Amino acid sequence: MPIKLPIYFDNAATTRCDPRVVEAMLPCFTERFGNPGSRNHRFGWEAEEAVDIARGQVADLIGASPKEIVFTSGSTEANNLAIKGAAEMYAKKPEGETGRGHIITAIHEHKAVIDPVKRLEKRGFDVTWLTPGADGLITAEMVSRAMREDTILCTIMWANNEIGTINEVPQIGKIVRAAGAVMHTDATQWVGKMPTNVTDDEIDLLSLSGHKIYGPKGVGALYVRRRKPRIRLVAQTEGGGQERGYRSGTLNVPGIVGLGMACELCGKEMDSERERLLKLRKKLETALAGSIEVTQVNGHAEKRLPHLTNISFGFVEGEGLMMAVKNIACSSGSACTSASLEPSYVLKALGVGDELAHSSLRLSLGRFNTEEEVDYAIDNIREAVEKLRLLSPLYDMHKEGIDISRIEWSTH
Ligand SMILES: *Cc1c(COP(=O)(O)O)cnc(C)c1O
Repeated sequence: MPIKLPIYFDNAATTRCDPRVVEAMLPCFTERFGNPGSRNHRFGWEAEEAVDIARGQVADLIGASPKEIVFTSGSTEANNLAIKGAAEMYAKKPEGETGRGHIITAIHEHKAVIDPVKRLEKRGFDVTWLTPGADGLITAEMVSRAMREDTILCTIMWANNEIGTINEVPQIGKIVRAAGAVMHTDATQWVGKMPTNVTDDEIDLLSLSGHKIYGPKGVGALYVRRRKPRIRLVAQTEGGGQERGYRSGTLNVPGIVGLGMACELCGKEMDSERERLLKLRKKLETALAGSIEVTQVNGHAEKRLPHLTNISFGFVEGEGLMMAVKNIACSSGSACTSASLEPSYVLKALGVGDELAHSSLRLSLGRFNTEEEVDYAIDNIREAVEKLRLLSPLYDMHKEGIDISRIEWSTH
C-alpha cells in the first residue's frame, strides 16, 4: 500500500479521532441534543443517559466507579482542578498567609502541572521541585526523601509526554497516601495505552484527556477518589453546580460520548495495540539510535511507553534536521517560545546539552500508523542525518579521532 505524506508521528501531541468515536458522537449534535440538566423532558433524559454510559466507560478503563468521574475540558483543566482544588481544600492556613502546606512535584512535568503549582507557590504553599535522574525518572525514593510533616499533595505524572519515561507512580502513591497526603497523577499519556487501576495503583486524583486517546479535543476527566479516603476539592469553576459541584457548566455531551467510546476502544484493543506499537518503536530505535553513531535515546531504556521514542543525533544541526524530515510530522527538542528557539526544558532536566536537545526528534506512534510508514521514516531520517553531518566540521574532527564529543556533547 503506498503511503501518504506527510506521515503522522506526533501522537503524543494529539491523535486522530477514531472513526468509531465520531460515529458515536454524531447523533448527539442533531438528534439527541438535549441538555442533561433538563429534568423535565425526554431530550434531557436521553442526554443524561448518554453521559451516564460514557461515565461508566471512562470509569471502567481506570478501575474507578462512575461517581468518581468529573468531566472537564481536558487534562489542563483536570490538572488545575486537582492541584488547586486539593491544595486549597487541605491548606493548613488560610489564604494570605505563608506556610499553608507542602507540595511535591517535578521540574519536567507538563506545563499544565507546573503552572498551577507555581500559582500555589505564590499563594503561600511550599513546593519541592524534584529533579529527575539522567534517566528521566522520578522514583519513590526521591519522593520519600522529599516528604515532610506538612506535605498535603504530591503531583507526579505517570508517563512523560516528551520522552515517554514511566515514573514509579504506584510506589509513590503508596508513600504519599500512607502519610495522609493526596496523590495526583497527570496520566494523560498513560491512560488508554497502559493498564490502570486507581485503587491498586494508589491514586487519589488522576487526569486524562480525550484527544490523546483517539477521542475528540476539548474533553477530558478528573478521577476523584470517593472512599478510602474520600477526597474533596475546592471547585475552580462555579456556576450551575454540575458534576457534583466540582465543575459547573453545561456538559459537553458529544465530547463526553466520544471520550467514553474512546476509552472503551482503548480498553478492548490495549493489549494488541501495545504489542504492535512496541515492535514498531523498537524497529525505529534499532535502525536509528542502534545503528547510527553518536545518537542516544533519551530517558530510561526500559521504563518507557511502548509507542514513543525521543532520539538525539549528535553533529546534526537542529533546524536543518527538522527541514530535512518535513515529510514526517513529529516534534523536535526545541520549544518555540515567543522570541527564540529554546531547548526543551524536559531534555534539559535530564542533563541533555542544548545542542543535543535541539537535534532531537520525538517520534510518537499511534493506532493508525503502519510498518511501511516506519520504514519510510527510518530511510528519511538516516539520509537526513548523513547529509547534515557532511556539513559539520565537528563531525569531521570526530571521525579523525579527536574526542571533541565529550567536551561538546557531554550530558553531564
Ligand atoms: C496533552 C497533555 C496535557 C494537556 O491536555 P489537554 O487535554 O490538551 O488540556 C497535559 N498533560 C500531559 C502529560 C499531556 O500530554
